Amino acid sequence: MADTILVIDAGTTSTRAMLFGADGKLHKVAQRELTQHYPRPGWVEHDVAEIWERTLACAREVAGHAAPGIAAIGITNQRETVVAWDRANGQPLARAIVWQDRRTAAMCAALKDAGHEDAVRSATGLLLDPYFSATKMRWLLDNDGQVRAAAQGGRLALGTVESWLTFKLSGGVHVSDASNASRTLLLPLKGAQFDEGLCDLFGIPRAALPQVVDTHGPLSQSDPDWLGRAIPICGMIGDQQSATVGQACLSPGETKATYGTGAFVLTNQGGAVPTSDHRLLGTVLTQRDGERRYALEGSVFVAGSLVQWLRDSLGIISSASETEALARSIPNSGGVIIVPALAGLGAPHWRPDARGVISGLSFSTGRAQIARAALEAMAHQTHDLAEAFSADGTPWQTLRIDGGMSANDWMAQDLADCLGVTVERPAFVETTALGAALCAAVGAGIHSTLEDAAQSMRGETRQFEPRVDRSDRDERLARWRKALAAA
Ligand code: ADP
Repeated sequence: MADTILVIDAGTTSTRAMLFGADGKLHKVAQRELTQHYPRPGWVEHDVAEIWERTLACAREVAGHAAPGIAAIGITNQRETVVAWDRANGQPLARAIVWQDRRTAAMCAALKDAGHEDAVRSATGLLLDPYFSATKMRWLLDNDGQVRAAAQGGRLALGTVESWLTFKLSGGVHVSDASNASRTLLLPLKGAQFDEGLCDLFGIPRAALPQVVDTHGPLSQSDPDWLGRAIPICGMIGDQQSATVGQACLSPGETKATYGTGAFVLTNQGGAVPTSDHRLLGTVLTQRDGERRYALEGSVFVAGSLVQWLRDSLGIISSASETEALARSIPNSGGVIIVPALAGLGAPHWRPDARGVISGLSFSTGRAQIARAALEAMAHQTHDLAEAFSADGTPWQTLRIDGGMSANDWMAQDLADCLGVTVERPAFVETTALGAALCAAVGAGIHSTLEDAAQSMRGETRQFEPRVDRSDRDERLARWRKALAAA
């Protein structure tokens, strides 16, 4: 019986394929790097054909002779990145504009100045920021002759990465799942499809956009040419929503934080459309038979990349994991505070103009103090988010962590101490891929609900309990607030 799940995880720096058993066991992985193109400061592009070819190569490597046993495909992906292609022949029309790309900052500022932000926020849950897809689509229409010509000829297809991959895999089905679609600025949180009024505001031809579909269910199927037989595509979900599912944050209030390059915190809001008075984002978590679950999201731009900066630019550590032993080697950071605003500040501050600060330096400051302050900054940033979530009526009971940086036990304990909540870390940290596997398993009918799937497919977790003495914490947070004001 076919009961394994092929997951495609199309990330920002690499694309992967993974084969999961119905019990959640990982059988096989293949990975290919993606070329990052930086044509100008603030611009980040991907080669669209390369995304497809390398993803297909990974899928073929993993599927191999196992194809007959694959029940379903689940796709998870870097969100917000925009792809433009010709729907007549499936050829890319331009390089993809990646989520990190800031080229549409002026367009966003102009829309804000014209007074559009409040209406856009209340409809979509998002802010007018270049991070999201709509202004990137508009940029392509304004600046790329091929994209414009395809639009005029009625041949233009626009979409995000899951949409592109599904179009190629299926041989021409143009769909986007609601979790990815909810990152474009074009999908109302309460609307089933992309909205005509929002499309007009951003100048996007509605006809070029995909049909919005569920995150799990019978969504499409792969062309038999690619993997030896037609395989149903039963899961499509944006990476952060996928990690939320993979962490089994399936009931209202359950929260996960992924500490990778940046940090992304999502709290399940159940069926209630999320609103925030504290500049958090409202987003679609999952959709089944048209019925949505929502999440409140806070994104921090700099997390693991701060550790990378200590290693690659300052050269004070030789590996990321060395920060743990350095942090443990001293009783405190000696008053050193780092505000990691190296790429501006994200939620809840949203200050693209902010810059990093290291305060409290003295002659007794050494690399241990700097490394410890860098790890402490993760708890400080997360604490600011916790306050915003709490003020929005969603306090955290426990925090489920994942991402490359969550391997750091010292940081996990510091998070628990600083936030005053239990921090939980799964033994299997590939929660993003696991989430897509859960979606595909439910979509294919292997499990009946995401809760059942999580029960069967999720492994062991380790808890970090908060320690009681929190006097040091209040001092640290007071110093953090002062340094933040200087950033
Ligand atoms: P992404 O998926 O965003 O590429 P990952 O989840 O792979 O990122 O996490 C990698 C990041 O985590 C790197 O920025 C690295 O500096 C950081 N990192 C990895 N291991 C550790 C560790 N033990 N302690 C602190 N930071 C770490």
